[in-house]
Amino acid sequence: MAKPTVLHIADVPLVPELQNEFIAKFEHYYIWEQKDRGRFFQEKGSLIKGIVTDTKGWVNKELLQNLPNVEIVSSYSVGLDKVDLGLCKERGIVVTNTPDVLTDCTADTALALLLACMRQIPAAHRYVCEGKWPIHGDFPYTTKVSGKRVGVVGLGRIGAAIAKRCEGFGCKISYYARSKKSDYPHYSYYNNVVELAKNSDILIAACALTKETTKIINREVLDALGPKGYVVNIARGPVMDEAELVKALVEKRLAGAGLDVFVNEPEVPKELLDMDNVVLQPHVGSATVETRTEMATLVVRNLIAHFSGQPLLTPVDM
Ligand code: NAP
Repeated sequence: MAKPTVLHIADVPLVPELQNEFIAKFEHYYIWEQKDRGRFFQEKGSLIKGIVTDTKGWVNKELLQNLPNVEIVSSYSVGLDKVDLGLCKERGIVVTNTPDVLTDCTADTALALLLACMRQIPAAHRYVCEGKWPIHGDFPYTTKVSGKRVGVVGLGRIGAAIAKRCEGFGCKISYYARSKKSDYPHYSYYNNVVELAKNSDILIAACALTKETTKIINREVLDALGPKGYVVNIARGPVMDEAELVKALVEKRLAGAGLDVFVNEPEVPKELLDMDNVVLQPHVGSATVETRTEMATLVVRNLIAHFSGQPLLTPVDM
């Protein structure tokens, strides 16, 4: 029987054993190798049965109209903001993602950013490396983290893992979500992000990016957090009104920010580049060898399960 054909629209690195398994089971094409996309789709579009994508690849009408026989989209991410789930559902295309396996690393990243921006760890590191310590003396005082009030926007898998870690620092946890979570009766629930911000020292974005959460952290929220407040974003860039965030930092209406994600990745607002109270990362929340191997394994195993008629490992509820 012919092997199913998979189109990679994202470069998902596979460890050698997984790559061998993948090649044994699938024909495949890499979209970035197709110089003449129109011709490629004309000649091969109807052969494509599966798509491999990640946080950067758009699976939208423009792509899917060229691929009439796609059955599955397997995403190397938990967030699916670039996949048109409505269209997939309409076309009967199943979608899989990589939940849970990346929760710990992404939550660890949030805590690292929180500590790094509040304690100004990168700036203090530079202070030592640039030889300023012997010349200028002690580094300026920073801000205490332990015991602070943390507000989590989106108490899903990652939000809850962040909250749990913050509890270890003696922080008081509050959250905003569309509904109160019975699993977390010891956290304070707010049904309004501005109220959450008013009652937090640190606001951490951990929600999915949707139409409703786009710019959910806006000027009003930042002002409610106030000039002693910190923001951490490990969700997606557009959940933040980035222009307002930059203004708030420049005008010192906010104390600092730790950001893993941005609106126009890999572009980052230039105003943020030399602020000691701002720590930036290139969207590496889940990017450890261990976690990325587990994610890639899920991407391949979901494809194998689908084409061998087995239950999917991590199907997305649509
Ligand atoms: P999850 O368990 O599905 O949690 C998503 C959360 O988003 C839920 O708590 C949900 O809250 C919340 N949400 C959705 N719509 C909302 C709305 N309108 N208002 C408020 N909250 C809303 O997903 P997860 O595994 O925790 O991942 C969360 C997100 O983190 C992903 O979607 C992804 O974008 C991001 N992420 C980033 C990285 C990185 O590298 N930086 C890595 C992994 C994931 P309710 O349904 O309870 O309202």
